[in-house]
Amino acid sequence: MLNIEEIRKDFPILSRTVYNRPLVYLDNAATTQKPRAVVEAMTDEYYSVNANVHRGVHYLSQQATELHEQARANVQEFINARSEAEIIFTRGTTESLNLVAFSFGEAFLKEGDEVLVSVMEHHSNIVPWQMLRERKGIVLKVIPMTDEGEIDLETYKNLFSPRTRLVCIAHVSNVLGTVNPVKEMTAIAHTHGAKVLVDGAQSVPHRRVDVQDIDCDFLTFSGHKIYGPTGIGVLYGREELLEKMPPYQGGGEMIARVSFEKTTYERLPFKFEAGTPDFVGSHALAVALDYVRGIGQDIIAAHEADLTRYAMEQMSLIPGMKIYGTAREKDAVISFNVGDIHPLDLGTLLDRLGIAIRTGHHCAQPLMARCGVESMARASFALYNTRAEVDALVAGIDRVRKMF
Ligand code: PMP
Repeated sequence: MLNIEEIRKDFPILSRTVYNRPLVYLDNAATTQKPRAVVEAMTDEYYSVNANVHRGVHYLSQQATELHEQARANVQEFINARSEAEIIFTRGTTESLNLVAFSFGEAFLKEGDEVLVSVMEHHSNIVPWQMLRERKGIVLKVIPMTDEGEIDLETYKNLFSPRTRLVCIAHVSNVLGTVNPVKEMTAIAHTHGAKVLVDGAQSVPHRRVDVQDIDCDFLTFSGHKIYGPTGIGVLYGREELLEKMPPYQGGGEMIARVSFEKTTYERLPFKFEAGTPDFVGSHALAVALDYVRGIGQDIIAAHEADLTRYAMEQMSLIPGMKIYGTAREKDAVISFNVGDIHPLDLGTLLDRLGIAIRTGHHCAQPLMARCGVESMARASFALYNTRAEVDALVAGIDRVRKMF
């Protein structure tokens, strides 16, 4: 079991107050709080190691490079990639998705080729594909879901045609919390010769994710959602695909040799990492992954599953409560509306009670349209949340409901 009180001490922000009330932070799907170890890793590196990586012969540069490349190996192990060449550091999920849309699109997609995206995708797994449609005339097809918020697998199977090249699917929906059957969906896509991109922004922080087990071709995630810093993220790509894909951006670090006549590119993964990388962020991300390992991914997942079950039960008792997403497999995200209270009003009033939730369209407007609403309120949990915080949320919602 988790010793939550001890764990909470690792996160200084959790002991602050908001409007003179203890902070109840339930916006973890947007970003997680940082343990002391992560913040200290960043200050320590700036104070005592800082130097640009990969090109210095001097001591500090070599030390910084070592930390940066150890971080890559750490990520490789965390998601069980085959090689470090398959781990590309980016700014986050959004940049990782844009990289694939641009570069895979350049290498492998022609006019009339089809890309499947699900109706529950985050905008960052929709818009890059629409931009590619503008550039190349690809066809976007939408994988539908059931009213419970599960992928409609029968329809999914029937969406494939000989022109289907890629399936883009969130592992866990940032709105519904649905855990999508990405392994099964990947196996189906592969029988049609299509590649699969899994958006792991909401799964990697909460459960074990093994890219070889899923057998996906790409996986993306963001450091800031797994207790790491902002500005660092990961693209995993299958090596033989990455080899065939052109660089996304040009500049320093990604070249082998430059002349005005011709430039050749670095080997993987550097080919995709133009410019000075966020080497402090990568090291701090590795510290965050170590922190998660130290507690135990299965223990975290069990704790969050307990919180989610408890919150679903307690919230369902509130009159007028409508919860979106009741999939059989659901992670620590609960989106909801209460009667005809506008989510913005609900969020603002809860904030006055010290309770931080998210309100709005959650960067998933097509999903909002599918659910017939403009916006929702959302509570999302992390390893440091408690049942008492769920109680505070439920009591807060009930109080707001009675005011209306
Ligand atoms: N995909 C999903 C499922 C997400 O939840 C998010 C963040 N809300 C993103 C992509 C985008 O992540 P980032 O803003 O870190 O690039």
